[in-house]
Amino acid sequence: MLRLTNLTLPLHHADEALLAAIFKRLRVTPRDVVRYQIVRRGNDAREKANIQLVYTVDVTLRNEAPVLARFRKDRDVQPTPDTSYRHVAQAPAGVAAAGAARPVIVGAGPCGLFAALILAQMGFRPIVLDRGKVVRERTKDTWGLWRRSVLNPESNVQFGEGGAGTFSDGKLYSRIKDPRHLDRKVLIEFVKAGAPPEILTEAHPHIGTFRLVTMVESMRASIEALGGEYRFETRVEGIDIDVDANGGRRVRGLHLHTGAYLEASHVVLAIGHSARDTFQMLHNAGVHVEAKPFSIGVRIEHPQSWIDRARFGLNAGNPILGAAEYHISHHCSNDRTVYSFCMCPGGTVVAATSEEGGVATNGMSQYSRNERNANSGFVVGIDPARDYPGDPLAGLALQRHWERRAFVAGGSNYKAPAQRLGDFLAGRPSTALGSVIPSYRPGVQPTDLAECLPDFAVAAMREALPVFGRQIPGYDHPDVVMTGVETRTSSPVRFTRGDDFQSLNTSGLFPAGEGAGYAGGILSAAVDGIKVAEALAKACVAQGA
Ligand SMILES: Cc1cc2nc3c(=O)[nH]c(=O)nc-3n(C[C@H](O)[C@H](O)[C@H](O)COP(=O)(O)OP(=O)(O)OC[C@H]3O[C@@H](n4cnc5c(N)ncnc54)[C@H](O)[C@@H]3O)c2cc1C
Repeated sequence: MLRLTNLTLPLHHADEALLAAIFKRLRVTPRDVVRYQIVRRGNDAREKANIQLVYTVDVTLRNEAPVLARFRKDRDVQPTPDTSYRHVAQAPAGVAAAGAARPVIVGAGPCGLFAALILAQMGFRPIVLDRGKVVRERTKDTWGLWRRSVLNPESNVQFGEGGAGTFSDGKLYSRIKDPRHLDRKVLIEFVKAGAPPEILTEAHPHIGTFRLVTMVESMRASIEALGGEYRFETRVEGIDIDVDANGGRRVRGLHLHTGAYLEASHVVLAIGHSARDTFQMLHNAGVHVEAKPFSIGVRIEHPQSWIDRARFGLNAGNPILGAAEYHISHHCSNDRTVYSFCMCPGGTVVAATSEEGGVATNGMSQYSRNERNANSGFVVGIDPARDYPGDPLAGLALQRHWERRAFVAGGSNYKAPAQRLGDFLAGRPSTALGSVIPSYRPGVQPTDLAECLPDFAVAAMREALPVFGRQIPGYDHPDVVMTGVETRTSSPVRFTRGDDFQSLNTSGLFPAGEGAGYAGGILSAAVDGIKVAEALAKACVAQGA
């Protein structure tokens, strides 16, 4: 089979046109082609009046060798890569059946879920611990904040089965280029668990929040059927580490908040970016941790129709194209970079705090992406070396500080502070909002966002807005709504690991996913979960555990 990339066709093309384009591009006749399959479909909207669909297709020919030889130097005609997944190890018979030998996974987000799934598929019987509730219960708690301003600090948009991305847009793209195509394995498992099959072919796949809930349940059923075990509402509060005569450190077990103790020699730490108490506990226990860059800013909302028009011109609203996205960035004169983060077309801004007395924003959408507004993080980079050198956990304190300022500015009732863009640029508080209606629940309080953000961030954002307005007409319209604060763009720390995926100074501990600083987003967290599961399995097999 050969893979043909960058095959472009007009937006409105007949079904047969794709096959005709394949014949033409490969210079073959209908008799030569046995079958073809679309691998990916994206669009090229650089010329709004002439938007092209861009296909990647796998083609099976009766006689491939001469065609491949003819296109030897053509990067768009190559043998189809082998993307099938093969497990790297199998649990030896009788091993990992009981006691400390069973791998323990802390966190049931995408990283922990995939670590557990792969370990279970290899015959290890992982135990998955999560501080939050089972996903259906957690959904009620999450909506409790959005509808009734009641926060459950242990069961919310960050904590509980499915992890942080469960109430999200479910965007499944990332910049990772994995030579083993582990991202494909993730997408295939998601489809098995109920995701729409189009995620396998769309260039920018997304799932939407409702499906994510049922998928997470389905994956739990698969893991349990393979001998895995879940314990919800079980927070890890302490870690026991043995230290040998040479100072070598090795995990021995975990203290749970229930008072129970769990012996464990292999622990995957997939705790996400918001488990600040757990970060502190690990730091106190001497686990190696470093400060890591992250970003801070606000959510910005525009009518989706403005973004569609700016991106697709007269083709705005065309169902083939769906709701338009954007990704923009600007390097400012104060040496800060401002960029759009986690753009949610046709979605809503959501309350994403997990701590009492704080307000943090994020975005989500349904599969249809048909809400009135587009939203995205409009954020500024934080550099630990420049902003708080020397203290690995200072980023947590910084996030918390601004989240608390936002809570107060919003009225101390979980409403979020918001401002018209025109007022933000003019440096005056908003007293009312304009034509763009904010989607944030439980509601917003018009105010001055400059009080909820560091000065360098405010300066950078004021510089970037008109620049972005030139790239996306309407982006800097005075009525655009900004809602604050967006602090949890990624983990402020990295639990650094060695080549064996174990903590730099603590054997048996496998920091993983977003919280450990090794992923940013659902797909990359899931891929990291697979990699860590593989490393853990190899370590167990090597030790005969
Ligand atoms: C509202 C929202 C929308 C998002 N939208 C997208 C999107 O569209 N696309 C995308 O790619 N990414 C999105 N993200 C980011 C994405 O969710 C994360 O990158 C991803 O979930 C990280 O996965 P993870 O498994 O590493 O950590 P998490 O998903 O954060 O999971 C960590 C888990 O660990 C548990 N935990 C923490 N501490 C403990 C402890 N001490 N004991 C036991 N359990 C513990 C938590 O309860 C949690 O379930 C979004 C995030 C949010 C909040």
